[in-house]
Parts: sequence; structure tokens; C-alpha cells
Amino acid sequence: MDASQTMNNLLRSIPKTDRILQKLPEDIPQSLKLRICRRVLDDIRQAILSGRISAVSSISFQRVLERIEKELQKAMEPSLRPLINATGVVVHTNLGRSLLSDELLDGIRKAAVNYSNLEYDLDHGRRGSRYSHVEDILCELTGAEAALVVNNNAAAVLIMLETLARGREVIVSRGELVEIGGSFRIPDVMARSGAILREVGATNRTHLADYERAICEDTALLMKVHQSNFAIVGFTLSVSMPALKALGRKHGLPVIEDLGSGNLVDLRPYGFVHEPTVQESLAAGADLVSFSGDKMLGGPQAGIIVGKKRFVDRIKKNPINRAVRIDKLTLAALEGTLRIYRRPEDAIARIPTLRMLCMPEKETAARAGKLLEAIRSREIGGIRAATSPVISRVGGGALPLQELRSTAVTIDPANGRDGDRSAISALEKALRQGNPPVIVRIEDDHIIIDVRTIKDNQFAVIAECLEKAAVSAGLE
Ligand SMILES: *Cc1c(COP(=O)(O)O)cnc(C)c1O
Repeated sequence: MDASQTMNNLLRSIPKTDRILQKLPEDIPQSLKLRICRRVLDDIRQAILSGRISAVSSISFQRVLERIEKELQKAMEPSLRPLINATGVVVHTNLGRSLLSDELLDGIRKAAVNYSNLEYDLDHGRRGSRYSHVEDILCELTGAEAALVVNNNAAAVLIMLETLARGREVIVSRGELVEIGGSFRIPDVMARSGAILREVGATNRTHLADYERAICEDTALLMKVHQSNFAIVGFTLSVSMPALKALGRKHGLPVIEDLGSGNLVDLRPYGFVHEPTVQESLAAGADLVSFSGDKMLGGPQAGIIVGKKRFVDRIKKNPINRAVRIDKLTLAALEGTLRIYRRPEDAIARIPTLRMLCMPEKETAARAGKLLEAIRSREIGGIRAATSPVISRVGGGALPLQELRSTAVTIDPANGRDGDRSAISALEKALRQGNPPVIVRIEDDHIIIDVRTIKDNQFAVIAECLEKAAVSAGLE
């Protein structure tokens, strides 16, 4: 039999859709069953044509049916689901950035299932402002005259530039033309806003005179951007906010700052390098400051703009504002988060992101010990577990050089497979594909389970997932 005959035989052996449909559960919508069936059978057809399937046994009725049943089961479950972040990256953008505290859930639930005064002024019985719910507290916490919140910080930057600088120039240091992951680049956002980027200085050094020389009648703004996810070290110079503000004042130009992560508490007492807080940036003279709600602030996804009332008012009236507006559930979560900041010491204890960031090394050691115990009590075959010092990261493109000293549990294959990379990556994959998925990192050929980012009720679950993963990775 030649190759094309074999292929034709294989294609003819693909189970028929009708027969499979008869075997699938009645309570699943017919359209979904049909969709999944077609997708799987198409996939099999392609695999045959490209030579990836060459045995009739691998497309037996039973095997194909099982595969379709599995896909159906997956399709019936929610796609967005919880997982365990054991990476030690606290503000992990791919894993949802910040966790909200349980204490906010009641407020969010009430906003969801009830009508509310979202845009209704109860004192006067007329239309109110969506921002009123957080504007006062933002001003109270930051010392700003006015505030506005939008969908995220990317939107905040876009709308600040579009409102204040469309068709005119914005002067930014070359050392601050940052790209955040996911295609946010200052030069590109600037272009989309209609503002014209005027780069000044060199990558590593920008002087006040560089800004001053670039000022012309087309200049609309002076702008500072937080470097966020990178650092320039060595022979460097940047212009401070007070100096830039003085220059702005001399030429009648507003100064704005994209703070990126933005932070309301000084974390130096917890071993962090100094980062200007939002309050400090405003006090140093920034006319507008924007920052994210879900980075180190530890709230929901949002973009927060605080500063001078006359600029905030103009942004509020910009029609783009409607396109980037914040929704009511987010607003409830943001208001709840901000209220916790009224007492900074509460913020560290009650906002999960801050609690994880500020967790002392000693506590990580105790947690790692607890996890190790949970793992050992299961006597999982094929692996060895131990504790080991590691470095966790802030993540979210914030403080890239900040090292958070932690203790982790390390997992290695046993039975003479120590350092066996294929065994290690099989285990990592099995953990990732488990239920719930456990996301770990691999460092120097060890699996690292970083306890800084796991929740208090996840120790036993991780041990159980590890046991299942060891089996499905074939280590036992
Ligand atoms: C993260 C970041 C942004 C984007 O913020 P999002 O809230 O993710 O939209 C913008 N600018 C800087 C400097 C950042 O660090």
C-alpha cells in the first residue's frame, strides 16, 4: 500500500460526526456539541494530512469520543478561573496583578445586585458624578485639589496627553521613553493622543538645560515618566520634579508625571528603596500625576489621575473620558481599597499586595516550613522537597531591582533523576495543568514554590496538587 492509500484509509476511518453526537450527554446544548465535534475531527484530519497521525488505532471511535468528551467538559467550565501563584512575583500582570481583600466583597456585591447612586446626587435629586465616590478620598490621601479615575493607567496617560497637548509638543527625557509589556510604549501612546513627542537628553543623562532648550511656542507640557521596569545605572542624571516644576513655572508650562505603579505609603521601613509616593510627586510640584489602581496600590484595575483642578476639569469634559470610564464594580472595589489607606499601618496588614510585598523573611521561612510539612506528610514518591532561600520580585513592571528575600520550598526529582531537565519541566507542566493550576518557577534546575504569593488556605491544596502532578509527570 502506498502512502496516499494509507492516508486515504486513515481519512476514511475518522469516526462520523453523527455517531459521536449520539453518544454525547443530552443536557449539553446541541450547537456546542456540534462545534466541538467539528473542531476535533478537523484537527484529526489536518494531523493525518500532515503526517502527524499514521496509525488507525489512534483515531479509534473510543479514543476520539474520549477526546471530544474531555473538550466538552472544558468548554462547560468557566474559562477564567482561579489558580495558585507560587512564582513569588507579587504584582504578576499575567496572573491578575493584585488580589482584592475579602473585606471588599460585600461592597462589590451590593453595587452589583442593587441600583445605586452611581451617577445620582441624593442631596439635590439630580444627575451626579461617577467620580464623586472616590474623588474626595483621593484628595484626602494625596493632597490633590481634584481627581479622576478611568479604566487603567494607559487610558489615564492617553487622556491627559489628548486633553492638554493634542497637536502640540510634550518634552520627555530619552531615559524615560519606557515600554511596558503588552504594547504600551510612551512614544506610541503619545502619537495616538495626537501630541508630538519632543525627546531630550541622552539615554543615561538628561540635564535641565536639555528641557529648556527644547521649549518653544509649540510646547504644551513637560512630562516625567517612571522608568518602572528597567533601571539605568552608572553615569546617570535625571532632572528632579522640583527643578522641572521651576522650569515649567518660568515658561508657564504644566508639568505632568506618569508614576506607573504609584504608591501611597513609603515602604522604606519595610526594606524598600525609596520611591516617590503620589503625595511626594504632587508636593514636589507635579500639576497632574497618573498611576495604576492594581499595581502596588493593590486595588482593582484602574487609572487614577490626581492634581490641579483646572486640568482635571478639562479631562473630565473630554469625550474620550466616556470611552475609558470606570465601571461601578471597579469603583466599589477602588473606594473600599482607598478607605483602608486612611491608616497606613492598616494598609500593610489588610491590602493583600502590600502584605505580600512587606512580608518579612522570617514569615516566609515559617510558611515554607509549613508547606514542607504538608508535602512530607503525603510521602509523595519520586520527588524530594526542601526549603531554600530565594529572591521574590515585586513584578508589574515596578522596582525591577528590588529583591525581596524569601524562603521557598524547592522540589527535585528523586530516584537518581536529580537535575533531569525533562523530568523537571514535566513536573512544572503537570502542576500548571492541574486543578487548580499551580504556577511555579524553575531556577537552576529546581522547581521553586515561593510561599510569599500563596494564600493562607493553599498549603494543603498545593501538597495535594504536587502529589497528582508527580504521578502524571511519571515521577512516581
Ligand atoms: C504600568 C504602567 C503603565 C500602564 O498602566 P496600566 O494600569 O497597566 O494601564 C503606564 N505607565 C507606566 C510608567 C507604567 O509603569
